[in-house]
Amino acid sequence: MNKRLFLIIFVSVLILGAVIISFAVKRNNHSNVSNEYVYDSVDTSCYYSEKNVLYLDGSDILHLIDTDSGKDIVYCDKPNCMHEGYSYNNKKPSCPAAFFGLSKSGNVLYNGHLFFLGNMTDEDLITQYLYEMDPNGENRKKVATLRGIQDIRYVLYRDNYVIGGYVNRVVLNDAGQIINDNKPEAGIFVIDLENHKVNKGTILTGEEINITGIYYEDGFVYYTVARFKDDVSEAVLADASERDFEDFTYDNLLHDIYKYDIKNNENFLLSEIDHIHNLELHGKDVYFTTKDGYYNYNISSGETVSLDIVGNVAPKDKNRFRGFTKNGNDLYFSYLNDNNEVAYFLLRGTNLKELMRIPNESSFIMDCICGTSVYIGYYDHGDFCLGVMNINDLNNGIFNPRKLRRYNEENQ
Ligand SMILES: [Zn+2]
Repeated sequence: MNKRLFLIIFVSVLILGAVIISFAVKRNNHSNVSNEYVYDSVDTSCYYSEKNVLYLDGSDILHLIDTDSGKDIVYCDKPNCMHEGYSYNNKKPSCPAAFFGLSKSGNVLYNGHLFFLGNMTDEDLITQYLYEMDPNGENRKKVATLRGIQDIRYVLYRDNYVIGGYVNRVVLNDAGQIINDNKPEAGIFVIDLENHKVNKGTILTGEEINITGIYYEDGFVYYTVARFKDDVSEAVLADASERDFEDFTYDNLLHDIYKYDIKNNENFLLSEIDHIHNLELHGKDVYFTTKDGYYNYNISSGETVSLDIVGNVAPKDKNRFRGFTKNGNDLYFSYLNDNNEVAYFLLRGTNLKELMRIPNESSFIMDCICGTSVYIGYYDHGDFCLGVMNINDLNNGIFNPRKLRRYNEENQ
């Protein structure tokens, strides 16, 4: 197996695990609760809130889905606009829903502005900008510059901050030509929306380094990173690809959990975990599986506990495990059983409840839970779709999703 294939598999594992963070939306003194968007862990330009989904389609045109009605509209109120996206023949799109660039993310409405993170110029590919615009997408201006950043993902707008993860791979010379296409870096950035100052924290390095999740709470950013051990070079990786790559990854991939103090610009490595299949960050809880069992590392207490209750029902073969989703203190998980059905469970405290079993071919993956909206990926008549179900339906074992997007159609 080659490295590219590994990357695809790595991403697939992320999809499989549905590693989207289900942020326990604070219900206390936040006035903008319903405005808090949660990122999609795979599609960097898709964001969910309880009532809306914002995403860029195949032509990078911004859409807004009204979750309750399922109605999908192009994010443009210009009369007679054809919503023509960026192309060779249309380098300056006039449609306010049109975006472009190599890295596209952070297309979220927050505090009365529409934002976008990317680079809509023909400058170098290692600078990104934060664009701020009117809520209707007009009057775009660059309000912050992110230097030395290539691919942005996992963007959050919380309190006064724009927080995101990034991954870099290439090095350019002064003329903007690529002189090295494998210098892996990853990290986070924080933009203060009051003064638009950018903090980049620590630039992390390591073979195939990737950022795997971000969570923000009270001035701190918690994030997870995966990378190969220092003695795993590109050559070792290429050689390992020929053998059983899953075992190699299990033995050699490190998962680091960091905490970043925004005010003091300080980065702390909280824990490093190896010999695990997968790691998911849900709020200040980290979940992972090993060959032996299922575990939870709590960032606040620093303790790791075995999830015996999960392990009592979930299979020993972790390839059949479909990952965790969190909503407040409720922990959901699913796995493929011996009858080729996916079984869904809810663990509330020490109370374990089986919610439903669905044939594998029509099963669903939970993307995230925002308030009462449970966003899922599932197959409908052979097409992969985004859907939403109500949290009460989920908790009562009722699978009757409302379709929001049919991905195959968009690619036609
Ligand atoms: Zn338009």
